Amino acid sequence: MNEMGEGRSISEILHHMGENHFPEHSVAPPLFQTSIFCFENFEEFQKALQDEKDNYIYSRGNNPTVNLCEKKIAALEHAERAKLVSSGVAAITQASMAFLKEGDHVVCVDSVYGWAHKLFGQYLKRFGVEVTYVEGIRVEQFEEAIRPNTRLIYLESPATFTFTLQPLRPVADLAKKYGIKTIIDNTWSTPIFQNPIDFGIDLVVHSATKYLGGSSDLIGGVICGSKEDIDVIFNQEFMQLGPVPDPFMTWQILRSLRTLHIRMAVHYQNALELGKFLEGRPEVRKVNYPLLPSFPQYELAKKQMRGGSGLFSVELKTTDREQIRKLTNQVKLFKRAVSWGGYESLIEPYIVMFRDDQEVPAERIGLIRLHAGLEEIEELKADLGQALDHMKQ
Ligand SMILES: *Cc1c(COP(=O)(O)O)cnc(C)c1O
Repeated sequence: MNEMGEGRSISEILHHMGENHFPEHSVAPPLFQTSIFCFENFEEFQKALQDEKDNYIYSRGNNPTVNLCEKKIAALEHAERAKLVSSGVAAITQASMAFLKEGDHVVCVDSVYGWAHKLFGQYLKRFGVEVTYVEGIRVEQFEEAIRPNTRLIYLESPATFTFTLQPLRPVADLAKKYGIKTIIDNTWSTPIFQNPIDFGIDLVVHSATKYLGGSSDLIGGVICGSKEDIDVIFNQEFMQLGPVPDPFMTWQILRSLRTLHIRMAVHYQNALELGKFLEGRPEVRKVNYPLLPSFPQYELAKKQMRGGSGLFSVELKTTDREQIRKLTNQVKLFKRAVSWGGYESLIEPYIVMFRDDQEVPAERIGLIRLHAGLEEIEELKADLGQALDHMKQ
């Protein structure tokens, strides 16, 4: 057993790691809802101030509740260290900016989360950073995009509308050859189903708002990586930009982590069952879920992931927006909402993001994203079934 959680079982990490010395033998971790920490004397005060990252001084830096949560997530991701931050976007932004400067170039997968796409394509342009977007399904696409000033390759595998994967080990090997940093958004798989660091990826980011939080009641994010990289992020972007994780939010994540592996097993099972059910329906052209044998990158998915989460998309044959509107209004258990990762099932048609008078490519009109929650699978199938039946009327 070492610092990186190797040799520890999932339940040991989630239920025991770092929990031996709670006051009064409390089973639940204490919530240190405090902004400052005080010192016995001048000497201790002075010593602590020389190194913010390894001391409890002020909760914009470290906090014991936050640090316990970081330790567990780092162990789950096979990383030396993790840094919790206030949102998934804060994790993406800080991890990326820490290793970029004016004149640098980024290679980014084109199907990544919208705000990551915007970070490179718009925001960082102001600071003289250039980007090339690639489809990213083959390592050659990355190699062709690399320039002498490329400093970062940004990945999201699978991406969360198209569910396309990137070959992680070949991309990590390529990046190492050219001295390029790699970051992956691993929100979809969670560390239960995929550990990108094992393939040689440098940094893993998560929106903890999704499965790590798991109950649709918090916004949070986390960055995992080597001690060296996390220290750089802590001392620069984290302390400078101030995207602090609230101790209570972190305490909620600690509570949710207790059941992460159990919840993920059910999300996986329910997504597979719903995917198969939808593949059998006449209204459906295609289901996009990497762990279904029909998925074009199924073999790669089996190689990189131990399972899948609850989010997938379905492409209906219809190109009639009215039918999509009917279907969306007809479901009873699936809630109409953005995001995912909680206990509840959700529906988000692609076209809901556009006004009625805006053009949408015909093949995207029938695209619908579904989140399989933790409800009884037969009830979920029946609900989608009746809504699809209703759509044709
Ligand atoms: C939600 C999401 C994010 C952003 O996370 P926030 O916590 O909303 O800031 C980033 N990446 C993916 C894949 C997401 O689904």
